[in-house]
Amino acid sequence: MILMKKLKVVFSVLMAVLLLAACFVPAVSAADEEECKHIFVFTVVTPADGCKDGVGVYKCTRCGDTQGEPVIVAGDGNHDWGPASVAPYPCALATGTHTCLHCGRTEACTIYPTAEHDWQITVTSAPDRCISGTGYKTCAVCGEQTYIVIPGGEHTWEWVIDSPATEYNPGTKHQVCTVCGAVQNMNTKIPADKSSGGFADAILRWIDSIGSFFGNFFAQIRDLFGGIQF
Ligand SMILES: [Zn+2]
Ligand SMILES: [Zn+2]
Ligand SMILES: [Zn+2]
Ligand SMILES: [Zn+2]
Repeated sequence: MILMKKLKVVFSVLMAVLLLAACFVPAVSAADEEECKHIFVFTVVTPADGCKDGVGVYKCTRCGDTQGEPVIVAGDGNHDWGPASVAPYPCALATGTHTCLHCGRTEACTIYPTAEHDWQITVTSAPDRCISGTGYKTCAVCGEQTYIVIPGGEHTWEWVIDSPATEYNPGTKHQVCTVCGAVQNMNTKIPADKSSGGFADAILRWIDSIGSFFGNFFAQIRDLFGGIQF
């Protein structure tokens, strides 16, 4: 009976100790974590390799904990592009893709033509004697279409005088094509032999009249003195 009592006491003490220990152990480790005043420093995990991106994290220098998401360490962007994808038509500019042989990145790229278009011409208005025609050309391979001008002959222009210029009044003229009869440059001014109107012209006319007066005068004197040249 006494033995049983003693055993009970020992058991109770043991249980108490175990319980205490169970409560105490996690409490101690939590206290440790609270104690770390983190110093997060950016730490490269995988360095960039040429154009291949690397990765880094913000890591505590004391406890090794990390903060936030991993951060990309950008590569140098000097990709080693493989061949571009195949364009739908060899004669037409196209947008395709190419893939970097080093990092595997795929990007859009311009694919330049490697062949000439195969043009088929369609005439919509035929060229005339003096007039160019029009039409369009269509590529038999890629279907590209372009408007075209089909050269014709050229007009043969000749001036026609509507009203001739006089000494003081300008005249007019225009051009006619001697082949098809087209006209252009209607009412083009023909300058007067001597300009008309205005004070300066009045003086010019006065000088002219004096000139002709003296011309006549000298002619008369010349006649008077019988063929002497002045
Ligand atoms: Zn820490
Ligand atoms: Zn690359
Ligand atoms: Zn084409
Ligand atoms: Zn013509």
